[in-house]
Amino acid sequence: MGLLYKVTLFMTLASAVAMAEAVFRIPTLNRALLDQTEVGHQTFFAPTNSGKWESGRFGCSRSEGWKFHEGIDIKYTQRDARGEPTDPIFAAAEGTVCYVNSRAGLSNYGRYIVIGHTLEGLEIFTIYAHLSTIMDGVAPGRIVEAGARIATMGRSTNAGSIGRHRAHLHFEITLVINDDYHAWLQFRNPGQSNDHGAWNGRNFLGLDPEAIFREQQRQGADFSLRRFIRDQTTFFTVYVPKKDFPWLQRYVPLVRLNPDIKPDQITGHHVRFNGYGLPFQIQPVSREEPGNGKIVLMDVNDSMYRDCKCRRLIVKRSGNYQISSTTQELIDLLTFTGN
Ligand SMILES: [Zn+2]
Repeated sequence: MGLLYKVTLFMTLASAVAMAEAVFRIPTLNRALLDQTEVGHQTFFAPTNSGKWESGRFGCSRSEGWKFHEGIDIKYTQRDARGEPTDPIFAAAEGTVCYVNSRAGLSNYGRYIVIGHTLEGLEIFTIYAHLSTIMDGVAPGRIVEAGARIATMGRSTNAGSIGRHRAHLHFEITLVINDDYHAWLQFRNPGQSNDHGAWNGRNFLGLDPEAIFREQQRQGADFSLRRFIRDQTTFFTVYVPKKDFPWLQRYVPLVRLNPDIKPDQITGHHVRFNGYGLPFQIQPVSREEPGNGKIVLMDVNDSMYRDCKCRRLIVKRSGNYQISSTTQELIDLLTFTGN
């Protein structure tokens, strides 16, 4: 056996082990993302009608950077005689099915599944959307293994139509903002319809699945989702004059405690948001109320302002940065406690 062959064999085995231990698996048969080539990107990402593969990416990837895409669109690899996608869809990690919407007309996600995972002490959710069929037995409460087949790729949505040539899985890795989303919605907008309880797309805060898959590929078994979230870049920080809200209990690993502050001295929290609105670090603070009980914008990362324009989280008025109505609403939902 030649040395090169041995080295290659070792590397193949090593990468197989790394893949087996990956926190998240790519949820379809399409592996072209891992090629990291232009052809690979074109094979992996399903574009919008623009035809640009980049529009299948997460982030400000659409409409010249003005439209947010909170997941990735993974292109089909196989189709039947009528041109319909037949790709099996797999659970990206072991977890519990939280929600199944089997009525395509009720969401722009079409038929979709939400699976909940507990990873490194964090409640993380994966979303699989535009499905054609959902496997029997995939229902709330069902535990699924990583890689278990849960559905078949489709084109379902209630927003326009998805052409056969760009059939895809819309996939999200996300955190849930507030379990009381429905109560909050009724409190703020009485009578507004919501067919999905807390499992509404507006209650999710997505991470970039492409970045996660790439970091897993790069770091192998050393990859840590917790570190990945903690290492997000701060777009802006706000002071929130609330002592307690559900996120603090749910995402304890994202709270940075200060041993010098006793619980009864806490007046509020400094919340650091990434460019897409994820409150990825929260720190209790004890301080004089800087804004008479109001939310205060503490700092803005100037260099991210242009790149993160699609979420309109921060606006500039008369040369000054301000919190947008989107961010006000996000913080309102984040800190909603039902009273
Ligand atoms: Zn999508």
